[in-house]
Amino acid sequence: MQQMFRQPNPSFFPLIFSILLFSGFTVAYGSEVDIDMGDASANEQRKMQQWVSGGINAVELSLGTLPGRNIKVELVTKPYASEPVPFAQVIRGRTNKVKLQVNTAWPLQDFIDDWTLYHELSHLYIPYLDFPSFWLNEGFATYMQNIVMLKSKVIDEATFIQKLRSGLERGRLNTITRPGKLSTVSNDMWRKRAYMRVYWSGAAFFMEMDTALLQQGNSLAAVIRQYGTCCLAAESSGQALMEELDAIAKTTLFSSTYLRYSDRLDFPIFKAEQLAAIAQHYSGEP
Ligand SMILES: [Zn+2]
Repeated sequence: MQQMFRQPNPSFFPLIFSILLFSGFTVAYGSEVDIDMGDASANEQRKMQQWVSGGINAVELSLGTLPGRNIKVELVTKPYASEPVPFAQVIRGRTNKVKLQVNTAWPLQDFIDDWTLYHELSHLYIPYLDFPSFWLNEGFATYMQNIVMLKSKVIDEATFIQKLRSGLERGRLNTITRPGKLSTVSNDMWRKRAYMRVYWSGAAFFMEMDTALLQQGNSLAAVIRQYGTCCLAAESSGQALMEELDAIAKTTLFSSTYLRYSDRLDFPIFKAEQLAAIAQHYSGEP
């Protein structure tokens, strides 16, 4: 939606600039975000600034102020890429960096519709975890990219459900060819090329947690917003993170479900009502 984008000042587009983000959440002023535009032209820089600002707004709408005092967004132009954002990664350090390859020739709307920026920014809301728990890192970002797109009205409820369904199906199929305990497969995800099993088993875990929290009048996004204001560390373990989220949500569900998922050999099954309940909650007004 167009109204969620800050209008850039057209007279000022240096190669590297900062935007001071105003937030309606826990603090009046959020992180300072540096965007390194690489060698993009002035027009393309304007488009990229609109896209990144809108992406940050969208993620903050669901998850609260971006964690950390400073965040760097580095754009690397790939003029011949067949999609707007062919590759991206989070590089963690004293200042967390989101590095995105972009083909700036694509229209702004294609950037807004692309999931990648929402996924990478969502990563920043939980710590970097041990490799056997890595399914939590990728699952969280994979689930949240869809929540963020739904809540900020980039996609509607039907598209949200369809995206989750097709992702879960990719995870289910990948589980057949990448057997073993989820924690073991996760520990060796790159060599085993078990991305879809790891990403979507993790997404399924957070969907299951969110379903349970919604039934208690809470939500995963609300728990994460609280976690971001009290407890977020740069690194942790899956078990420790689950205990902290349990303390915030006043449950033991995160820890017990985490142990069950770590050992699980199969891929979770979801009912249509579960997906519908999640979609309905996050498509409501904030
Ligand atoms: Zn990721």
